[in-house]
Order: sequence, then C-alpha cells, then structure tokens
Amino acid sequence: MEKIQMITPLVEMDGDEMTRVIWQMIKEELLCPFIDLKTEYYDLGLEYRNKTNDQVTVDSAEATKKYGVAVKCATITPNAARMGEYNLKQMWKSPNGTIRAILDGTVFRAPILVRGIEPYVRNWIKPITIARHAYGDVYKSTEMKIPGAGKVELVYTAEDGSETRELVHHFEGSGIVQGMHNLTSSIESFARSCFNFAVDTKQDLWFATKDTISKKYDHTFKDIFQEIYDTEYKEKFEQLGLEYFYTLIDDAVARVIRSNGGYIWACKNYDGDVMSDMLATAYGSLSMMTSVLVSPKGVYEYEAAHGTVQRHYYKHLNGEETSTNSIATIFAWTGALRKRGELDGLTELSAFADKLEKACIDTVESGKMTKDLALITTLEDVTPLNTEDFIKAVRETLEASL
Ligand code: NAP
Ligand code: MG
Repeated sequence: MEKIQMITPLVEMDGDEMTRVIWQMIKEELLCPFIDLKTEYYDLGLEYRNKTNDQVTVDSAEATKKYGVAVKCATITPNAARMGEYNLKQMWKSPNGTIRAILDGTVFRAPILVRGIEPYVRNWIKPITIARHAYGDVYKSTEMKIPGAGKVELVYTAEDGSETRELVHHFEGSGIVQGMHNLTSSIESFARSCFNFAVDTKQDLWFATKDTISKKYDHTFKDIFQEIYDTEYKEKFEQLGLEYFYTLIDDAVARVIRSNGGYIWACKNYDGDVMSDMLATAYGSLSMMTSVLVSPKGVYEYEAAHGTVQRHYYKHLNGEETSTNSIATIFAWTGALRKRGELDGLTELSAFADKLEKACIDTVESGKMTKDLALITTLEDVTPLNTEDFIKAVRETLEASL
C-alpha cells in the first residue's frame, strides 16, 4: 500500500513520562506505516525545556503560528518536587500557559463517546464541547480584608490624571472586598475563537453570563459577543443552519442537563473552571477527553486533556506492566491530521484520521480496552489490555478497515 503524502508539516510537540512513551508507540504503530508523516519536531520534554531555558516552548508556539496546526503531548508543569527530580534551573511555567499566551487562544474540550462508557446524564447522546475564557476575572483579582468601619471605592485614574469613582460599600464593621478586571481585546479574541470553532465543527454556540445582576461587567461580555456575531458571523451561521444562543448562566446550566449535547458551551473563566470538571466527570472518564487550543486567527493546537500519567510511568520504569489509555492522545493526532488535510486539500489524509478514530471506538466497543475503561464499562465481554496491546488491537481494527 502506498503511504498517504503530506504537504505542510505538523508542528509536533513531544512531552513527558507515560504520554511520551505512548507518543512513540502511536507514531510507530498507527501513523508511520500509513502516512509519509511530515512534522517539525519540538521536544517539550522537561529535560530539554530546562536545557533551553524554555526557549523550545516559545519556538514551538511560533512554529504553530507559522504552519497553523500543532499536535502536543502532555507535559509536566514543574512544582517543588520536580525541581529536585529533574534538577531544574527554574520552576518553568506551564507550557500550555506559555503557548496559550503566545497564540491568544481558547481551549475547547470535548469527550470521546463510545458505546459501553455511558454518561451519568442519560440524555447526553452527543458530546458537549466546553470553551473556557482563559484570562482575568477572579483569577487576576486583587483582594482586601477590611478590618473595620470605613469606605471602599473603585478609583479609575485616566492618563490625563482625571479620576472616576464608584462606591463599593460603606462598611460599618469588618468585611472583605475584591477588585477584578477583564480586557475588551481578550473578550473579543475569546468570542472570535468560539465563533470560528462553531463554524469549523458545525455546531451551535451557547454563551451565558449573569448580565441581569452584573449590568456592566457581565453585560459587556454579552454585548461583545453579540456585536461580533452580528457583524462577522451571522451570515455564515445562517448559511450553515447554526444558532448562536445567549442565556443566563443558571438557565444555561439547567438546559445543559436537559439537552442531548452536540453544541459548544462558551464559559467565562470561573464558570469554565467549574463546569469543565463537571462535564468531564459526568461523561465518564478523563482519559477520554480531547482538547484543542484555537486562536482567534484560526491556528490550532491539539492535545489530550489528561496529564503525563506519572503513576503509570514509574511502574513502566520499574518494568511493570501498564494499562494506559492512549485514545485521547491518538485523537490529538487525528484532530491535527484532519485539520492539516482540510487546509491542504488532502482528502485522503482527513479520511485516514476519520478511520483511525473509528478504529479506536470500534476496538473499545468490541470489548478490547485499557483498565481505566474496563472498570467502568457496561459491556459484558471485556478483555482488559495493557498499553501496548491496546495500540496493537487498534492497528488490527484499522488495517481491517483500510
Ligand atoms: P494525570 O496525568 O492526568 O493522571 C491522573 C490519574 O488519572 C492517573 O494516575 C490515572 O489514574 C488517571 N489517568 C489519566 N490519564 C489516563 C490515561 N490516559 N489512561 C489511564 N489512566 C489515566 O494527572 P496528574 O497525575 O495529576 O499529573 C501528572 C503530570 O501531568 C503533572 O506533572 C502535571 O503537571 C501534568 N499535566 C499536564 C497536562 C497537559 O500537558 N495538558 C494536563 C494535566 C496535568 P490511576 O493512577 O488511578 O490509574
Ligand atoms: Mg479546575
């Protein structure tokens, strides 16, 4: 069989621990035998990040801007324990944070649905994709403890020195205050990333805030989304038969639970933090969650939502058998390959991505799965497989379908 050719390389961001082990297996077993894989390789493994003073992370993000599509392996975000373990020069920042800041992107997370791994909410028959605004609000707030009686005000001092004041509260006793902010430019980027992704994946977009209570802060989010929708996306949405739907956050939560899924739910920073964990858990498994960073200019970086699966890696290093689920990492590759295929007009490449995803799903639905899924599946005839054997089983299913 002739290998599928590529035109533009994918930006390949390698990572750490168990996911780095899986990364190699996926390439060897599931990609290179079928595709003449073209990538521009960046080693985001912690050792090399440390060696390059994290320059490699910046370079990989710049390359993503240049080529348009990247695929990323999970990476360690250093903490105190990692400082010693890897003898680090510095507690380097989260690569995802660095990349997101450079691309000004929004992260979209969606569950991979398979028969036998049932969501806790029975009517969720399609995935719900959640988009979390990743800047500001309570995550960049200033707080104060008020010890006793006194006046708290918001003061804005313009460049010309003029002041605008707004009373927060006249305290009669002790209390607490918080000042938070957001930026018009950041909200605009968030909105454009969401509208682009909706058009791209042909799904409705839901957005919700508490604008009835927060008449300036939250209302500004609502207004910016509406303005950008009306002037830049309305026509496209109508052509594709898509809906942009705005409602209050409490109403949105109730509707999400009643829904069948199949849409994108855009959330403000805090709502997204809370709701993405709720959705991930309710869909059944963190190891079946995909993630894609989309920039307002339409640049894409695909990855799995889970981490480097450190516990399994230490077992692997000890020569013990592991059963790590590679599906979300495989879907990061297929997401990137499909997008590359679309951008370069390579229908064969996109079709291969579809087939590889189907092979993963069919393999699980046939009862062959890793332990994490075997523990929660409703299927009866189950064969739990180790890390490597699962990937081999997917290859068999894939070859039978080609
Ligand atoms: P984790 O790697 O997501 O793993 C937590 C636990 O979830 C595992 O111990 C395992 O449970 C289960 N799990 C996750 N993915 C699995 C998979 N594919 N197959 C089977 N089981 C899976 O989170 P962590 O252990 O908290 O973090 C480890 C490292 O990952 C940290 O250094 C963190 O900084 C990094 N991290 C990176 C990213 C990213 O790059 N996007 C995201 C999150 C965390 P059992 O042990 O019970 O089997
Ligand atoms: Mg959280």
